[in-house]
Amino acid sequence: LTERLQKAMEKLRRKPKVTEADLRETMREIRLALLEADVNFSVVKDFVKKVREKATGAEVLKGLNPAQQIVKIVNDELTALMGSEAVALNKAPHIPTVIMMVGLQGAGKTTTAGKLAYRLKNEENARPMFIAADVYRPAAITQLQQVADSIDVPVFKKGTDVDPVEIVREGLTQAKENHNDYVIIDTAGRLQIDEQLMDELVNIKKLAEPNEILLVVDAMTGQNAVATAQGFDEKLDVTGVVLTKLDGDTRGGAAMSIRAVTGKPIKFVGEGEKMENLDVFHPDRMASRILGMGDMMTLIEKAQKNFDEEQAQETMEKMRANEFDYNDFLAQLDQISNMGPLENILKMMPGMANNPALKNLNIDPKQFAHIKAIIQSMTPAERTNPDLMNPSRRRRLAAGSGRPIVEVNRMIKQFGQMRKMMKQVTNGNFSGMQNMMGG
Ligand code: GDP
Ligand code: MG
Repeated sequence: LTERLQKAMEKLRRKPKVTEADLRETMREIRLALLEADVNFSVVKDFVKKVREKATGAEVLKGLNPAQQIVKIVNDELTALMGSEAVALNKAPHIPTVIMMVGLQGAGKTTTAGKLAYRLKNEENARPMFIAADVYRPAAITQLQQVADSIDVPVFKKGTDVDPVEIVREGLTQAKENHNDYVIIDTAGRLQIDEQLMDELVNIKKLAEPNEILLVVDAMTGQNAVATAQGFDEKLDVTGVVLTKLDGDTRGGAAMSIRAVTGKPIKFVGEGEKMENLDVFHPDRMASRILGMGDMMTLIEKAQKNFDEEQAQETMEKMRANEFDYNDFLAQLDQISNMGPLENILKMMPGMANNPALKNLNIDPKQFAHIKAIIQSMTPAERTNPDLMNPSRRRRLAAGSGRPIVEVNRMIKQFGQMRKMMKQVTNGNFSGMQNMMGG
């Protein structure tokens, strides 16, 4: 989230003892970090107060491992602030479950509707249907249809000159006839909250009696996202929030304020434009990510989705034993390309979120192909024994793969660093981290 917060935590972690002055300094850094991250002012005030109370109350100053305790308090409070537990989608007792997407124009309603349907199809074998209730722009219906076609989900639509409430009425009837288990209503947005839009949404809500009203907000809009959330929630009493565009260069303050300000849970986060880029929101994991401890759980879960269990286990063993070789690397490259943008994956590794090397990093998918070409030019012995790489072998690899020698060198260096990090994460560092977090 912010370098400032991570640096403050890092600094504190290294201290064997924490004085009153250290604590004050840390609190100041936390406050600034949160404000810089666009967290709502009163949320910040509250948060700092709570952390300070707990930190002073918990005998932190003379405790065994004071710095770590404070880190833990901050982590716990941050988790609590964002809602503590992941909150599941509401379900209707009888099908169909009706989900209504609401939010400003461009927030990501249509895209998220698609992602959600895709997710439900994959996870529950569900048979969702969309209702196209954004009738103000013909392009909106076309866009929904395109999204729907890409994931093979039917759309109920009636064109642009029909009352959206009527469309929803007919759509729901059709969904019942077809035994669709989910109906996802894509509604219109505006650039700003206005009376007319709200009235329309209220009318759709009255008719459809949705089990879930998901408010979609763009995380990039910072404080505005919070104001928007408040505005929608007042009129519609939403049941959950989806925070989109967390993959962008957002300061993330919205994630921390929305729950505190509206009391409504963030249920999902959008982290890209593709249909698979929707994740369940886990407050604890988000807190760890914010504090720079990486999001190992999400990473592991993502990995599990894409890797087969046995192989993942084998890979973990190899990482731990420092036996991860180029053959493994090659196998992983293929699977990793299915996990989403590489830079997102790297940011979830402990200590990486704040790594300057990752800032503005944009990994060209072509790089995958280049790295593969280099590895494929290796002899079997070189692949299994990464330490063999000497200058003449490197030159041979460059010639064999058609890549410049600097690129070969860089790849080998990065592979070495990666191996080292894997070993630390799977052994020492990770348990160290658990100890530190009181686990
Ligand atoms: P709507 O007006 O609320 O329906 O918004 P759209 O679904 O049309 O989305 C607006 C733009 O935001 C589109 O270009 C989407 O591809 C993009 N978008 C939506 N969600 C995300 C996300 O999580 N990450 C990124 N990077 N882009 C997103
Ligand atoms: Mg739309």
